[in-house]
Amino acid sequence: MRVSKFPLTTLKEVPAEAEITSHQLMLRAGLIRRLASGLYTWMPLGLRILRKVERVVREEMDAAGALELLMPCVQPADLWQESARWEKYGPELLRLKDRHQREFCFGPTHEEVITDIARRELRSYKQLPLNFYQIQTKFRDEIRPRFGVMRAREFVMKDAYSFHLDDASLDETYQRMYAAYTNIFTRLGLDFRAVAADTGSIGGNASHEFHVLADAGEDAIAFSDTSDYAANVELAEGAVPTETRPAPAETLREVDTPDARTIQDLVAQFELPVERTLKTLIVHASEARGGGLIALILRGDHQLNAIKAEKLPEVTVPLQFADEAEIRNAIGAGPGSLGPVGLPIPCVVDRAAAAVADFAAGANIDGRHYFGINWERDVPLGTVADLRNVEAGDPSPDGQGRLRIVRGIEVGHIFKLGRTYSERMNATVLDENGQPQVMAMGCYGIGVSRIVGAAIEQNHDDRGIVWPQPIAPFEVAIAPIGLHKSARLREAVEALYVQLTEAGFEVLLDDRDVRPGVMFADLELIGIPHRLVLGERALDAGEIEYKGRRDDAPSQIPMDRLVEFLR
Ligand code: ATP
Ligand code: MG
Ligand code: MG
Ligand code: MG
Repeated sequence: MRVSKFPLTTLKEVPAEAEITSHQLMLRAGLIRRLASGLYTWMPLGLRILRKVERVVREEMDAAGALELLMPCVQPADLWQESARWEKYGPELLRLKDRHQREFCFGPTHEEVITDIARRELRSYKQLPLNFYQIQTKFRDEIRPRFGVMRAREFVMKDAYSFHLDDASLDETYQRMYAAYTNIFTRLGLDFRAVAADTGSIGGNASHEFHVLADAGEDAIAFSDTSDYAANVELAEGAVPTETRPAPAETLREVDTPDARTIQDLVAQFELPVERTLKTLIVHASEARGGGLIALILRGDHQLNAIKAEKLPEVTVPLQFADEAEIRNAIGAGPGSLGPVGLPIPCVVDRAAAAVADFAAGANIDGRHYFGINWERDVPLGTVADLRNVEAGDPSPDGQGRLRIVRGIEVGHIFKLGRTYSERMNATVLDENGQPQVMAMGCYGIGVSRIVGAAIEQNHDDRGIVWPQPIAPFEVAIAPIGLHKSARLREAVEALYVQLTEAGFEVLLDDRDVRPGVMFADLELIGIPHRLVLGERALDAGEIEYKGRRDDAPSQIPMDRLVEFLR
């Protein structure tokens, strides 16, 4: 591709709307453009990346024996009434009416539609097991769309649904999907971890999430440093009904708290909207961490009553830390998670209430006290029973190793649904004896568009994106110097472009008449793995200047060995 025919729409400035690196870089590199809250256009350059992620997902799903189909985005309400989710799903469900006033929704997920397909199409146990998947647009009216495509309202998901006669068959497919997901995230070049997870509103009885490890992640995940133990510290859906979750206010407020000695003091100093916030707020100073760390924990009504009745112990807040390193040490945070204003820090545990908090920490840096609160996040309660009463550095729940707690971005989620949907919707097949049996089901999601953001969170530097090879929009960039002044160079560049393209590389030729600095900055920002610089001098020397995106300095490669070198 030539830049003259594939315009780059890069931005120098960091867009004010973008809080995290991946969102900033996706906008700056011109991969996406915002249409409205949580709605993004994938620009041609961005779409190439999205399609590459899709390709890897599709190849591994096909290899695991799943069958691709494509279901409608818009779904009739009566199916959701059958499964009892029309009422239950809440405001994330975008509800629509057609011209006859019939009710529909824009699908946030497709259990109902696929179960309807299965009960109509499948007759006999001989047709099972079957695993259907699609790669398709979902809509969820997220309470707080943010981070660009990572928490969008409209996004691309790969969702798969399997059908079985018995639980043993479901177990087998579940394991196969677990393996397929492991292959997918490995091939995509991501640093990820599979963790035991809560089953949330989808229901069912076993589930794992796949998390890309990154400080910008919205989830706290806990794992053992020596064993296979890993779990998400997640909020049970419904523990705090969506409507009563605290309204998002400012994130990370900087305050001085020299006199704070009690919960009430802190609440007063933060000027919290008490009636609403107290419903879900407890301030807790962890003694185990030297008394310097404060965790804010969202709770249900019974804790509110405890606060009101003043049955909770008073908390003292000494706030005495020598320096940032000591704070990190005390709270077991990974490098980079503590910014100058106390950025979100991996989670802390309230032993007294056996709940898990995250995203809040007090810190005294350079004599000033900083207190970070993230109101945007549903702070997790300890729904994974193992995690109650533990904290980072403790032995693990499985008795092996020490617990580490890090942040993760949920990019995949697999569930054993069991018979929740098939029972409600009466999806049966005839067994060997001709008796109808309710099918067992599994469902398996991947956030295809979220992966693009997550990959950038893990692969960038101060100059821009550093794409893992398998999802780079182009593999090789040719940056000619003085192209428009030299016919000889134009000829050589053209020949090189054809040669590399024919050798199977995806090449981006920068044929703009711009300064090398501008060209290099753009190519680094958009993250092309290999850059070739070519001028008159290089032609004379028979050598080409090569720089890998991660290299510190360029090197010279003999022209006649170039293809071999790039391979
Ligand atoms: P989250 O906890 O981030 O809200 P979820 O648990 O609600 O995600 P699932 O129902 O498990 O999501 O959907 C499968 C996958 O779809 C998720 O693992 C995630 O990668 C992706 N996904 C979910 N919500 C969004 C969103 N708003 N924007 C982009 N991707 C999303
Ligand atoms: Mg969600
Ligand atoms: Mg989740
Ligand atoms: Mg999930």
